[in-house]
Amino acid sequence: MIKLRNIHKSYSSGNANLHVLKGIDLEVKEGEMVSIMGASGSGKSTLLNMLGILDKYDKGEYQLDGINMNHLSEKEEAFYRNRKLGFIFQDASLITYKNALENVALPLYYQNISMKKRNKIALEYLDKVGLTEWAHHLPSELSGGQRQRVAIARALICNPQVILADEPTGQLDSSTSLEIMELLKKINNDGITVIIITHEHDIAEMTNRIVYIKDGVIE
Ligand code: ADP
Ligand code: MG
Repeated sequence: MIKLRNIHKSYSSGNANLHVLKGIDLEVKEGEMVSIMGASGSGKSTLLNMLGILDKYDKGEYQLDGINMNHLSEKEEAFYRNRKLGFIFQDASLITYKNALENVALPLYYQNISMKKRNKIALEYLDKVGLTEWAHHLPSELSGGQRQRVAIARALICNPQVILADEPTGQLDSSTSLEIMELLKKINNDGITVIIITHEHDIAEMTNRIVYIKDGVIE
């Protein structure tokens, strides 16, 4: 599903240049659930953001489902980002003035689907994450775990092949973290490839494989 060859990424600010990814080689098979671990600042989010086509890499090759991501137009990048990939952030990143249903329906807004149909589909996804009764509540009225469920429903609504999650349990207590991990495992059992960054070993051990980043490479 994912094949990375010799991926490099640097950040420059002023005269300083920070070489974060120094030749990442990684393969993830369709249907795998993989966790990425590494020290704070080791480049985990940088790697996930490039996998999610949220940020560019400087050098190397990225294949997603057999398609080379190196020379895509912006329009093609947006297509793969929105249709093949779903992203989950540590803080859920919901829109504060939209209710749970509207947040989940948002990715469908840019497709040619009526509002009635969008809301109907969003409600199905809220149901999948166990939040039917919370559809009309604002994020501020939900618990951290519920907010993350909304984010998961939103990430799933365009039928992605891959879910990328950057410390999705980082702000949750341990029992809520386990619930979110069980939900991600269920999604994985439905055939979606899941890549998750975590610094907690308990969480990482719930996945098929743990990948460690150190000094800019996969250790
Ligand atoms: P991790 O997620 O493993 O904690 P990151 O990928 O967020 O690490 O960051 C890796 C390094 O790159 C850190 O030293 C961080 O400060 C730096 N960095 C991350 N994003 C940027 C950016 N947009 N501009 C400059 N430096 C950045
Ligand atoms: Mg990070």
